[in-house]
Amino acid sequence: MSECLRREIADQVSHLQTEKGIVPGLAVILVGNDPASEIYVRNKGNGCREVGIYSETITLPEDTTQTALEAEIDRLNQDQQIHGILVQLPLPKHLDEAAALARILPEKDVDGFHLLNAGKLMTGGIGVTPCTPKGALYMIHQTGMDLSGKQAVVIGRSNIVGKPMALLLLQENCTVTICHSRTKNLPEITRQADILVAAVGKAGFVTPDMVKPGAIVIDVGINRVDGKVRGDVDFDGVKEVAGWITPVPGGVGKMTITMLLQNTLEAAERAGQ
Ligand code: NAD
Repeated sequence: MSECLRREIADQVSHLQTEKGIVPGLAVILVGNDPASEIYVRNKGNGCREVGIYSETITLPEDTTQTALEAEIDRLNQDQQIHGILVQLPLPKHLDEAAALARILPEKDVDGFHLLNAGKLMTGGIGVTPCTPKGALYMIHQTGMDLSGKQAVVIGRSNIVGKPMALLLLQENCTVTICHSRTKNLPEITRQADILVAAVGKAGFVTPDMVKPGAIVIDVGINRVDGKVRGDVDFDGVKEVAGWITPVPGGVGKMTITMLLQNTLEAAERAGQ
C-alpha cells in the first residue's frame, strides 16, 4: 500500500521540480544516540531518497543545550532549501520538548505537533496532520468501508497518536471512544468497535476476545521483544476474528514515513504558491 503511494509522491516531487524548480527538502534533528531513534531517522532518510526529496540529518550531542537546539531550529526555519523540519522524539530528559516543537515554523512542522497545527486539527481547520494517525486513516480508507456512523475505538490518548487519531475519525463522522490506562471494562468497549486502533505500547495487548468479528484493526504499536518488533495486537489470534488487520512490522510504521514524505511535499508545494 505504501509502495503505490510513494510512487505517486515521487511523480509529484518530479512534477514540482519541473514546473517550479522546487526540490522538497526535509531536515531531521537527532539529539543523542538512542538506537531506536537512529533507526527511525535512517528510515526517514531512505524514504526521502526513494521519492526524490532532499534530506539532511543534523546530529547533535546528547548534552546539547536548549539554546543550541533552538538555534539549529531557527537556522532551518530560515533555510529556503528546507520545507520540513522534524525533531526526532524523545529528546534527552534535560531538554524542553514542547518549547523545541513550538520553535518550528508551523508551515515547516511536517510532524504536525506544533500547537497551531494541533489546534487546527481540533477545530477542523486545514493544517498539518500528524503522520501516524494520518497514515492509519489512509489505511482505513483503503478498506472501502463507509465510515459514517461507525463505532471507532482508539486505545491510547497520547498527543502524537491517540488524540489526533480520535479527532480524525470524528471528522469522518465515526462515533469515537478513547480508551486509556484508567478505562474500566476495556474488552467490553473494544468489542463494540467497527474500527479498533491500538496505540498502547504493549506487545500483544489486544487479544481475539477483545475484537468484534469483521472489525478493522489498526496496530500502531512498535514494541521490541527478544530482538523482534511486535505490535500491540496479537496478530495471529486477532486475524482469525478481524475483517481487516495491519501487520507489524510493515503496516502503520512504513505508512507513517510515507505520510512524512507527503507532508514534506505539501509543505514545499505551499512554499511555491
Ligand atoms: P504513549 O506511551 O504516549 O501512550 C500510550 C497510551 O496507552 C496511553 O495513553 C495510555 O493511557 C494507554 N495505555 C497504557 N496502558 C493501557 C491499558 N492497560 N489499557 C488501556 N490503555 C492503556 O505511547 P504513544 O506514543 O501513543 O505510542 C503508542 C505505541 O505506538 C507505542 O508502541 C509506540 O512505539 C507506537 N508508535 C508507533 C508509531 C508508528 O509509526 N507506527 C508512531 C508513534 C508511536
